[in-house]
Amino acid sequence: MTATHSTRMLILGSGPAGLSAAIYGARAGLAPIVVQGLQPGGQLTITTDVENYPGFKDVIQGPWLMEQMQAQAEHVGATMMWDTIVDVDLSQRPFRLTGDGGTLYFADALVIATGAQAKWLGAPGEQELGGKGVSACATCDGFFYRGKKVAVIGGGNTAVEEALYLTNHSHDVTLIHRRDSLRAEKILQDRLFAHPNVKVLWNKAVEGFVAGEGAAGLVAIDLKDTVTGEPSSIAVDGGFVAIGHHPATELFKGHLELDEDGYLVVEKGGTRTSMPGVFACGDVADKIYRQAVTAAGTGCMAALDVERFLAEADFEAVAA
Ligand code: NDP
Repeated sequence: MTATHSTRMLILGSGPAGLSAAIYGARAGLAPIVVQGLQPGGQLTITTDVENYPGFKDVIQGPWLMEQMQAQAEHVGATMMWDTIVDVDLSQRPFRLTGDGGTLYFADALVIATGAQAKWLGAPGEQELGGKGVSACATCDGFFYRGKKVAVIGGGNTAVEEALYLTNHSHDVTLIHRRDSLRAEKILQDRLFAHPNVKVLWNKAVEGFVAGEGAAGLVAIDLKDTVTGEPSSIAVDGGFVAIGHHPATELFKGHLELDEDGYLVVEKGGTRTSMPGVFACGDVADKIYRQAVTAAGTGCMAALDVERFLAEADFEAVAA
């Protein structure tokens, strides 16, 4: 028989956004169900040291932080489901969602916190040196490269912002881009070109990330000129891949409004999507800040928006 679950508040995703929404929703008596998704705990489970989440003087570990958030959500009454949603029907109330084993979920309100994944180059050494010199988030990891040589790969707003951010920690920042012009906004480009500690390597594709001897992490990035084909190498301690993100919104194409980059569109300053009763928080709706603490903040907002929506709803509740 098909398993079914009915809830006033269904949350997709179990990163800081989804779990914060769960904590607030549970404390509001909505007994939320969290469908954890393919990567329970979200992106923080693949990071190590976290130094910028408020409340902890000492360095904490990303996976530990997520375990704590999940335990807190369960403690106040949220239910975790180890499942992934493969189909959504938002055309009727309650909303009907299907898990990959066929489990059905009926919900009066839906919070989408499915996050985004950094795009990687797929170059040799990239994954092996993840957390050992290679990163996809300068705001998260830049601090660890104080006084060291770093490079950022990419030519969009993220890459330029990350390069500028890294100048707070490093006097030697190189932006590596595969073409001879950036797609970042002009104002950011002007700031980048004017910065004395940033140089740009044009027309360079990354061929590989090079590890040092023994336990040493990244020591160099091998490059190839995209015009001449000439190989070269740059010695660096940190390499930041900033070539864009994939928001996890595939399921919602044709159901909810997405922007040109595939992110869910939410009302300004809030979490309501284009469909009443559906809310979005965290990286799935944020291509600018992308921090655990901002995701947690918008998760809280989504729960408060759900509460208000359900209080004003004129349909019969699917669950007590
Ligand atoms: P973008 O898609 O804008 O840029 C990605 C960059 O990475 C491009 O320069 C692209 O090169 C390069 N790139 C992509 N794939 C590869 C590859 N395989 N090898 C080498 N280089 C590659 O991503 P962003 O994350 O920068 O921005 C995403 C969206 O978020 C944009 O709309 C941006 O404006 C927005 N944003 C806004 C911010 C703000 O307003 N403050 C901050 C950050 C992002 P190429 O140019 O050759 O295609």
